[in-house]
Amino acid sequence: KPNKQYISNTIGWRFDNSYIRLPDSFYVQLHPVPVPAPRVAILNHALAASLGLDSHALSDEEAASLFAGNTLPEAAQPIAQAYAGHQYAHFTMLGDGRAILLGEHLTAAGDRFDIQLKGSGQTPFSRRGDGRAALAPMLREYLISEAMHALGIPTTRSLAVVTTGESVLREALLPGAILTRVASSHIRVGTFEYVARLSGDGEGVKTLADYVIQRHYPDVAGADNPYLALLQAVIARQASLVAKWLLVGFVHGVMNTDNMTISGETIDYGPCAFMDAYDPDIVFSSIDHHGRYRYSNQPHIAQWNLARFAETLLPLFHSDPQKAVALAEEAIHRFPAIFQDHWLTGMRKKLGLFTEESEDRMLAENLLTWMHQHQADYTNTFRALAEEGVPGEGLSNEREFVMWYQHWQARLARQPQSKQSSFSLMQAHNPAIHPRNHHVEAALAAASEQGDYSPLQQLLSAVTHPYTDMPVHQIYRTPPSPTERVYQTFC
Ligand code: AMP
Ligand code: MG
Ligand code: MG
Repeated sequence: KPNKQYISNTIGWRFDNSYIRLPDSFYVQLHPVPVPAPRVAILNHALAASLGLDSHALSDEEAASLFAGNTLPEAAQPIAQAYAGHQYAHFTMLGDGRAILLGEHLTAAGDRFDIQLKGSGQTPFSRRGDGRAALAPMLREYLISEAMHALGIPTTRSLAVVTTGESVLREALLPGAILTRVASSHIRVGTFEYVARLSGDGEGVKTLADYVIQRHYPDVAGADNPYLALLQAVIARQASLVAKWLLVGFVHGVMNTDNMTISGETIDYGPCAFMDAYDPDIVFSSIDHHGRYRYSNQPHIAQWNLARFAETLLPLFHSDPQKAVALAEEAIHRFPAIFQDHWLTGMRKKLGLFTEESEDRMLAENLLTWMHQHQADYTNTFRALAEEGVPGEGLSNEREFVMWYQHWQARLARQPQSKQSSFSLMQAHNPAIHPRNHHVEAALAAASEQGDYSPLQQLLSAVTHPYTDMPVHQIYRTPPSPTERVYQTFC
């Protein structure tokens, strides 16, 4: 039974709900389904503070009730958003089947953030799902999204996880939970696909595109062809984002078009994982049988998804359909070069290079090839270079590696900057710490099976300071032993 209890605004919400002013077909209004016994599992006071929210003003009971959706902020106007998407290349209707957007919070600086509860009960978009979420996956999203933010990668963020006091039936009965997700918006490629193909609103795409321009890309409003400029801007953000993923060894795992934001933030932490040993073909997701979403295929998939986005905008590009297609294709075909530029710029920083030489790409690729052949740990190899490791001491003394190392040293010597400034640059771009799968799994098991949150809290404090090399965090730098290695993740 939907709960319609509202609470007074003790923590300082400033809601201004613009999405609900869009056409009715874009969403459904409904309330979260209350849960019997909410309790706060984890609360992100630092994020709350950065949003201008006084999370300390809430009692434990008030916080639990708020982040469970049992009580709502006074100005909330809860909705489930409609969207569609290509899942493993198959088009289907989706929508928020287990999430409710409470509204949009404005910070004092005027930044707008969606406040969404995930795991908040059934909606008209739930299909056969129960509308709920299990505790471990919600803690996983919290942990990884906060780690990604600390790594400097655009992402949705996590404000809280509460347990519900209910069990959810998955492979077993598991504790239920709700995550509060904060995003610059939840508009996806799949939102455009829904509006273009299923909403029945002929003007819908233009309405949504105008809204997105105003909300995320105000600079393109003045372009000669604002909708083409919008496509180009989204391409630029996604190319930058996916390059950042590759540079830290991140595999998203389920890059369906409904899991790609228009804002350029990483969204939907399902079967994602960071690689340990470098392997461009690595796949973690238990359902990705053909490796569609493998590490090295992510730029190609991003481009494929962006082509689906472009298709929804075609009538806005030009009144002549052939000219519209030509404009879209030209923009989409630029993606690989834009991505490669971002990737190489990032690799130069990882290798301490301030200047540009035409062989730099080869230098980086040769290192990766060697790492692949020798199953070298991706994060640790780069960090050892940044920490002034030398072959035999912190780094391999295998013959081919030593030859690569000498090429690299010669390359560093050809730039005017000092070695010390190279090492500083490298230490700021090669994390010492990231959420290694075996540590993540252990921390989640302790929390969700034993109610022991200390391993999770410790891991969280390490991964949210990824570039700082602190002795207490050393354990999180250890690659998994063969028996600890995580081969598969599940959504
Ligand atoms: P995802 O795989 O997380 O991108 O979700 C794909 C779609 O499945 C979205 O429309 C979700 O809302 C929906 N979904 C996922 N889990 C559930 C659930 N337990 N109940 C209802 N809908 C769900
Ligand atoms: Mg999703
Ligand atoms: Mg998901």
